[in-house]
Amino acid sequence: MEARQISHHVFFILLAATVRSQVNPEMCRYPLGMTGGQIEDEDISASSQWSESTAARFGRLDLDNGDGDGAWCPDIMSEPDGLKEYLQVDLRSLHFITLVGTQGRHADGMGNEFAQRYRIKYSRDGSNWVGWHDRKGRQVIEGNRNAYDVVLKDLEPPIIARFVRFMPVTDHSMIVCMRVELYGCEWLDGLVSYSIPDGHQMIYRGLDVYFNDSVYDGASAERLTKGLGQLTDGTWGLDDFLHSHIYSMWPGYDYVGWSNKSFPKGYVETIFEFDHVRNFTSMKVHCNNMFSRGARMFRQASCYFRSGSDWEADPVIFRPTVDRQNQGARFITVPLGDRTASAIKCRFHFSDLWMLFSEVAFQSGSAVYNTSLTPRKSGHPTNTLPGDDPTHKVDDSNTRILIGCLVAIIAILLAIIVIILWRQVWQKMLEKASRRILDDELTARLAVQTRAFSSHHSSLSSEEGGSTSNSTYERIFPLCADYQEPSRLIRKLPEFAQSTEHLGPSTSCRALATSGSDGAPHYAEADIISLQESMDSSTYSITAVSMNLFAGTDSSMREFPRHKLTFKEKLGEGQFGEVHLCEAEGMQDFLDESIEGNNESPLLVAVKTLREDANKNARNDFLKEIRIMSRLRDPNIVRLLAVCVDTDPLCMITEYMENGDLNQFLCSLRLKEAADEDKAEEEEKEGNSMASYSKLIGMAVQIASGMKYLSSLNFVHRDLATRNCLVGKNHTIKIADFGMSRNLYRGDYYRIQGRAVLPIRWMSWESILLGKFTMASDVWAFGVTLWEILTLCKEQPYSQLSDEQVIENTGEFFRDQGKQVYLPKPPCCPDGVYNDLMLSCWRRNAKQRPSFHDIHTQLMESLA
Ligand code: AMP
Repeated sequence: MEARQISHHVFFILLAATVRSQVNPEMCRYPLGMTGGQIEDEDISASSQWSESTAARFGRLDLDNGDGDGAWCPDIMSEPDGLKEYLQVDLRSLHFITLVGTQGRHADGMGNEFAQRYRIKYSRDGSNWVGWHDRKGRQVIEGNRNAYDVVLKDLEPPIIARFVRFMPVTDHSMIVCMRVELYGCEWLDGLVSYSIPDGHQMIYRGLDVYFNDSVYDGASAERLTKGLGQLTDGTWGLDDFLHSHIYSMWPGYDYVGWSNKSFPKGYVETIFEFDHVRNFTSMKVHCNNMFSRGARMFRQASCYFRSGSDWEADPVIFRPTVDRQNQGARFITVPLGDRTASAIKCRFHFSDLWMLFSEVAFQSGSAVYNTSLTPRKSGHPTNTLPGDDPTHKVDDSNTRILIGCLVAIIAILLAIIVIILWRQVWQKMLEKASRRILDDELTARLAVQTRAFSSHHSSLSSEEGGSTSNSTYERIFPLCADYQEPSRLIRKLPEFAQSTEHLGPSTSCRALATSGSDGAPHYAEADIISLQESMDSSTYSITAVSMNLFAGTDSSMREFPRHKLTFKEKLGEGQFGEVHLCEAEGMQDFLDESIEGNNESPLLVAVKTLREDANKNARNDFLKEIRIMSRLRDPNIVRLLAVCVDTDPLCMITEYMENGDLNQFLCSLRLKEAADEDKAEEEEKEGNSMASYSKLIGMAVQIASGMKYLSSLNFVHRDLATRNCLVGKNHTIKIADFGMSRNLYRGDYYRIQGRAVLPIRWMSWESILLGKFTMASDVWAFGVTLWEILTLCKEQPYSQLSDEQVIENTGEFFRDQGKQVYLPKPPCCPDGVYNDLMLSCWRRNAKQRPSFHDIHTQLMESLA
């Protein structure tokens, strides 16, 4: 019963506070609905968009999932100064906006575009636009420094508008992306403009005191017209007009003021225009009353009303008691007698040399004024006469109660959170303790097998030379600020050419590139890390569309008894450790199915082992890699069969691909002329190192099929190449390497400023220059992979170009002036396949590249 009473009480206090308070800039900081969705998609528009998935509706702060690419991105900015491109929000009604928030495109680590600076334009009617500037006249706002952090900027002065445009500013043509939010509250005053004579300058004891309306956003000729400014900025002047709340502003800054001498009729005429006809109850004018310096509150206000075209003849006349004792600034409430109007003309009569106003607010019908609740400026309440503003006191006490209640609620919530966290910590500790007991048991059981396995593992490692002993494992985020700016990268090329070690063209098979291990991390590793990390939230948002592959239930892998693995030989090694060929006893039964094309028992499997001295990051990433692979099931994707993760060393067991990786496999083959195709096929059957054109296209078909599957899941591989495909029996090809790197192929990777290595010869121009990885950039890589296949991997792509020249060539793709160099047609490749397929994968416009579905169909047709 008591609780219900309290909640009722709180409700009414909240209601009272919300009803009475309207615009108090300190309270008026509510998110207006970009994040929360109250602003509808149709009310968010833009000058342009880079692609459908970066349309305006994706420019919502803190949201980067959904079916978009994580933010609004305009087309490449041709006018970098921020005058052309904009993201526009229509708030549907006038709002008082005090704060804006911006963020870049992060897309769970896939994006790195953000606006370092931007401008704001706003409009109240959708046709007259005003560029916002701060109190010192600066228009450009410092924006984001990275793609993920939200940067909030107070708008000083605040904006009263219905439409707001965010306009990114850059130094040069580049892609910027934005997510935004507006904070404020509804502008219930309904005032759309006021017209006043501009303020005058006072010389006070040799000091220049300016009473102009410095933030007025309308036209200024003889009078200020069609705008709003200091009288509606929510800032009230101090008692002493020589001082201001705002640091380093000129004397008189807070006030708009007029000298009696310039108005022979003895009054200043002001006109206030409203959004529609309203029923006015009162007007509040914040006046200075420092009569010792010649400024005093007005003597009389005569207000005329207009609903149609003419002013009504009978004004409301109000004469406040002129205060001759207290010099404090104060609000004076002018009752407007419930008059109906869409415009009010008030004549304020001087009672001294100067009349200074800092704020004007109106109350109409149930709408409320911005003078209630806590005063914006300190010191004000002591100087306000109670009689001048009777509501003020009441509001103030309500606010205190309201704040008290809110603090109590927050304290209770915090206490609940602390209790929940405390319980979780305890639970975890208990779990750990019980798991340790279990682990001890398991360790004892598996000790013999594990020792045998690891001793072999380490002896092999030392035989192979130093590279496996390298246990360093770094997380790299390759899309650093330097990386995403195309022109900066291109401009740096001459420096690179001098200082970077020249990797040189490679004209031999990849096996020759084994040497030169400098420990640089593989770019794909970094990408997979970010990909895997995003899986923690069960969603993988990529550049084209959201990826729901990992959403939903976790089809976790089953633990295979480690002692049933018998080591046979080492197959190779990657970043995380070695890959061994093992016999897996009882695997068929374990899986409850027979492995396609393999009925042997015990089953031969490839076991990828995490090296024992791997650090925590590598260990986590190895486990996350398992989670990715466990969800992929396609005849042309290497299958993860089981795992051994209960104890170290962690292992993933994949199907065994007898013929190793495709690059080495092709490298060892020779092409038979078309005339000898039949003979070639016979020789192939006999195990001779011959390959026919149709066999090669058959391999490409399989890769296209695997990629078609990945694209159906919106999965971007990012490192498609022959080195990352494995060859099984009967030339079965499967795509692998969802996060591993192999030193064997480090010549295929290019190191950017020591931060990350990239397979630039396989990467699309937009991946290199903009850090944009999409299905279309995978298609580009497929084109290169097809080229590798048809040249039997005898040559590295663009082997005659150095790495720097490859990047320069990428710049030519970007500029599109016909100077870009394409990979040449492989001798065995028919014109049709080269022109219609291979070249189409390298089209500048990503949207014009074929899909994997198209590629697969086209290749199948070329086989027929
Ligand atoms: P990775 O760690 O995936 O880069 O693999 C390193 C090397 O191990 C590759 O170059 C392959 O030669 C070999 N390898 C990896 N997985 C398999 C597999 N499933 N079957 C046969 N060989 C494999």
